[in-house]
Amino acid sequence: MEKIFDLAIHGRGAASITRILIMEKVPTPGFINFQRDGTFANIYAGAPEEKSYAWTIAQVKSIMKDETYIGHTIHYRETNISFKNKRRIRKPQSEWVRVENTQEPIISEQVFRQVQEQIANRRRKCKDGTTQIFSGLVKCADCGWSLSYGENRQNSKPYGHYHCSKYGQGTRQCSMHYIRYDVLYAYVLSRLQYWSRLVQHDEERLLKRLLNANDKGQAAARKKQAAELNKAEKRKAEVDTLFARMYEDWAAGRITEYNFSMLSGKYQSEQAELDTKIEQLQSAIATESQNAADAEKWIALMKECVNPTELTAELLNTLIEKIVVHEAVKGEDGSREQEVEIFYRFIGKID
Ligand SMILES: [Zn+2]
Repeated sequence: MEKIFDLAIHGRGAASITRILIMEKVPTPGFINFQRDGTFANIYAGAPEEKSYAWTIAQVKSIMKDETYIGHTIHYRETNISFKNKRRIRKPQSEWVRVENTQEPIISEQVFRQVQEQIANRRRKCKDGTTQIFSGLVKCADCGWSLSYGENRQNSKPYGHYHCSKYGQGTRQCSMHYIRYDVLYAYVLSRLQYWSRLVQHDEERLLKRLLNANDKGQAAARKKQAAELNKAEKRKAEVDTLFARMYEDWAAGRITEYNFSMLSGKYQSEQAELDTKIEQLQSAIATESQNAADAEKWIALMKECVNPTELTAELLNTLIEKIVVHEAVKGEDGSREQEVEIFYRFIGKID
């Protein structure tokens, strides 16, 4: 299930996801149930291997829209017409009973919502031939809402543009954050072309740049952290031994009850302090190696799209987390300046 949502969020449609699942021989839920409980043996028992991963587009589509995966249960989706007629019919959505948080979610609410938004956007066809490749990616810098797509049809040559969806609500809660589709397209494409060139020419330097590793101070700080962790772990082992010995001494009557309680308090608080310190250092070190792994992941993705000449939803969703559009600033000379920030997947914002 996670795989389906992961593919969907990276811009794949149901048909493409179905193909991948079949190609990778991912077992269907039906087959998994058969293996576990023996249900639908009439279908699966003795069937050829292909049956175990015979995904259908309809099945993938219904999974992508199923709120069960974010922990909600929908009752009465289907009903029998009568006792005698066992044909099941789908009830209208208004009659469904929705119970929230009935089970542990498999998919996060945020991922689920984004996939729903992408499904909805896929259906919308634009009159000027542009497709919604940026859907779910462009956000308002001031209120954080998604930008909505619109078209200027008065113009002899209609063009697409984005504006803050909160602005469009009539409540004037946010300003317009207007940006033309072609301007945004050209800018994002130029950035991706720039990174693609760097990846090809000097991967090593780009990786360093992503990690700020040319900064000597950082490398020294990392070394110091590792040394500190080593020291703390050694001391922890010492204190544990001392504590154990002291306990033996007390049990054998070699130290008084008073000394025992005094010392054990002291050792225990040092143990707790060391535990905290070790945990902090470990997580700091882990974060750094995670950053390095993330940067490498992004570079690997970037390598796959050599010299992009056009943008597709798949390309954008593979490389980019979100695009933040700021309100334009008008200069006295009538010029218009607008900041657009691109946050990449795994590595965030880089310039
Ligand atoms: Zn806004």
